Amino acid sequence: MTLRPILIHPDPRLKAKADPVAEFDRDLAALADDMLETMYDAPGIGLAAPQLGILKRVLVMDCVKEENATPEPMVLINPTVIEASEDLSVYEEGCLSIPEQYAEVERPAVVKVEWTDLAGKQVQQEFDGLWATCVQHEIDHLNGKLFIDYLKPLKRQMITRKMQKLKRELARGAKNGRS
Ligand SMILES: [Zn+2]
Repeated sequence: MTLRPILIHPDPRLKAKADPVAEFDRDLAALADDMLETMYDAPGIGLAAPQLGILKRVLVMDCVKEENATPEPMVLINPTVIEASEDLSVYEEGCLSIPEQYAEVERPAVVKVEWTDLAGKQVQQEFDGLWATCVQHEIDHLNGKLFIDYLKPLKRQMITRKMQKLKRELARGAKNGRS
């Protein structure tokens, strides 16, 4: 397993629509392992392949947050929301590609998602609570959409400018031999 660098917004790869996965091979399993390791290390509760610059419809998540609770790593390939509740819920969302920025986003409270697992089997499951928000946030990534796209333009521009500044600082740090 390998930790992979996470892209920081703005980046054209975070705005692109990812391609469906067709081959359920060892490379895909290795990618899923790397994604889980990278997500837990960050730490985060979800990660989509485009955040690593890989434009494939793969996401991982684990919304178990309580300490000492058993982890529930999930790998979803080619996921789609097939049913969404009219009830909405609001969560303060963040994103590993937009570090340290949080904002409330309203989404369906319960969603039914269909996807393919690593063995190539079709799976359907209903998600609620934090899991519902997380799976929708990650599926958005596969369509080139970020949680800040739900915010008012002014707030979105403010966050984008902060991220541009952060990226300049990171680039300078890397040049000076810091990481
Ligand atoms: Zn995200």
